[in-house]
Amino acid sequence: MQVQRVVCFGAAALQACMSVPFFMSFVSSVYIDGVNLDHTHFARLLSCASMLNRHSTVLLYARKTPDQPALQLNKYRWSHKTVRPWGEELPLQCPECGSIASLKIKAGQGADLHGTCEMTGCPFTRTYTRPNGHTAVKSVEQGAWLVSVEGGE
Ligand SMILES: [Zn+2]
Repeated sequence: MQVQRVVCFGAAALQACMSVPFFMSFVSSVYIDGVNLDHTHFARLLSCASMLNRHSTVLLYARKTPDQPALQLNKYRWSHKTVRPWGEELPLQCPECGSIASLKIKAGQGADLHGTCEMTGCPFTRTYTRPNGHTAVKSVEQGAWLVSVEGGE
């Protein structure tokens, strides 16, 4: 028997209760209803666990076909323009002045997003760029899941 799929989470301390709605929907739709597990459906399943998107990246190792020897790695990370620009976690504190939740995200040139600290006199700025090799997958809630695919040839 070969494993067909493995789901992993990138959070250092995963809050497992946040993943329950995802796994319940996964079992129901994929194993019972037989829905094809493409990127769009996987992102829809991830969106069933509404707090999971802000908590963890998700890795799906899967075979393209049942007889394929190698697993393909699909990396999913949630992106939101102001909450998680291009899938990157915002620092809780400003690295320069230590203020809490003071980073404001605005659109920059092209697809870039710029973060600046709103505290008076603080010089901190950071640019968030669209990661290479990632595709935006439509989702039902705010933001989108970005996916990159590696291996499995
Ligand atoms: Zn600051």
